Parts: sequence; C-alpha cells; structure tokens
Amino acid sequence: MIRPETPACRFAPSPTGYLHLGHAYSALFSWQKAREVSARFLLRIEDIDTTRCRKIFEQALYEDLAWLGLEWEIPVRRQSEHLPEYQSALDKLAQRGLIYPCFCTRKDIAEEIGQSGNAPHGPDGVIYPGICKHLSSSEQKDRKDGGAPYALRLHMDRALAQSGTLFWQDLAAGDVHATPEIFGDVVLARKDIATSYHLSVTLDDALQGITYVTRGRDLFEATHIHRLLQALLDLPVPRWHHHELVSDDQGVRLAKRHNALAIRVLREEGKKPDDIRKMIGLL
Ligand code: GLU
Repeated sequence: MIRPETPACRFAPSPTGYLHLGHAYSALFSWQKAREVSARFLLRIEDIDTTRCRKIFEQALYEDLAWLGLEWEIPVRRQSEHLPEYQSALDKLAQRGLIYPCFCTRKDIAEEIGQSGNAPHGPDGVIYPGICKHLSSSEQKDRKDGGAPYALRLHMDRALAQSGTLFWQDLAAGDVHATPEIFGDVVLARKDIATSYHLSVTLDDALQGITYVTRGRDLFEATHIHRLLQALLDLPVPRWHHHELVSDDQGVRLAKRHNALAIRVLREEGKKPDDIRKMIGLL
C-alpha cells in the first residue's frame, strides 16, 4: 500500500445550502485532526451536481469557515473544473471491461423489479437488477447513436474478481472488510453529469494526497465502494475516520435545510466561534 509522504486532511462540502452545525462539526473535526497529526488541511468544493450547487453557497461557506477560524491551502479544488480527470478514470475502467452503459430510466428499473417480485436493497436504495448488463456492443452502439442518454455502471462481479479481498482502516471502527457488493452495479457516471460522488471523491482524495479522510458516519458505507475503486485504479489508500453526526435537542440529525441552525444565522444572532464549538461539543 502506497501512502503519500505528508499527512493531509480535508473538508469536502457540497455547496447546496448554507453550512449548518453538522458541517461545522465535520470541518472542525478534520481541522483538529490535521493539527493532531501535523497534516496539511485542504478544502474541496464538491460541486459536480450542477442542479443543486450554487455559487452563492460556495461563497458563503468560505466566509463561514474563515469565521470559524479555519485556514486552508489555496487554490481550492473545485470538482466541476476537473471533469476530464474523471473521464480518464472512466476510460481506464472501460478498457478493462469494468463499466457498462445503462440506458434505464427509474421507471424501467421499477417495472423490472415489480415483475421479478424481488427487490434487494443496498445502502443507496434498490440494487440495480442488471437490465443493461448483457447488452451486446452493437446494441449499446445503436442506442448511443440514437441519442439515448446513459449512465455508466460498475460491473461489480468483474471488479471484485480483479480486486480480490480488500480491507480499510477506520480510526473509529477499526479494520473493516470491504463489501462493495452490497451496492450492486453502482453508477459511476450519471446520465446528466458524466461522473458521480463515488468516482470524484475517490480520485480527488488520491490526487490531493489525502492521508486521513474524515467525514460523517452517514458516508461509512460509501467507503466500501471507494476502497474498491482505489484498488481498481491503483490509487494510494488513506485511513478513514467516520465521525458521529450532530443531532438537535430532539435527537434529530441536522440536515442542510435545517436553516435555523445555519452558521450564518447563529452569527447574525451574535454567537461567536467558540459558542459554535461549545454547541457541537468540540471545545
Ligand atoms: N461532499 C460530501 C457532502 O457534502 C462529503 C464528501 C466526503 O466527505 O467524502 O456530504
């Protein structure tokens, strides 16, 4: 396993709303980790989903993070500026027969599942029933030539056969056996975006030399896929730390739309950075 020399941590928000206390926890957690292990601290803007990301939220998150006292390296990596890198990873996987085009709509998938009466679920929802997995190359070509939009899915069986058994090291959960098969043939490039969260995050962590991936427990399962992609693309393997999620007084997990607890609202109410640290238990 190759590890880059200099330790590096990152915070990788998606600018789809104002930062809330949950983000502050995640950002400060990573910032503290960086301090603990004398690591670089990087910020990455995960803005591939152009339907949901907004420049105004990106600008706001720089302001909120700086107000909290964080400092990050410049230039900040913005995923939307790196689509050719994701494409070249997809090309590598395609050359080895590890991805295939999927022309299915949600309706096609629902109908197929309805007919089979069997709907196994993975962490991202229902497991793809493999409708497009066995299309011949000429069928694939005809549909592409006909302008049908398509996603690219990982051929999980082949991927597992090539990767062998994999593990990852999680500073909270210990050594974890990777079981990416729980996702089935996961989408690596969406119809509308030509990449995906799983592909972009894995490549970016490698390209940015991240050695400690810190993020919330809600993304724990995603690491099964990321570990597999690292093996397939011959990328360095970081350590992970999936931290607890911040909940409100009623024990409800904070979501981005929980606007009352947006950092900027709290700032406007006169709260100071240390008040925020206290509220999330990081002081
Ligand atoms: N961009 C993701 C989010 O805002 C986090 C990605 C990650 O930390 O791996 O939920």
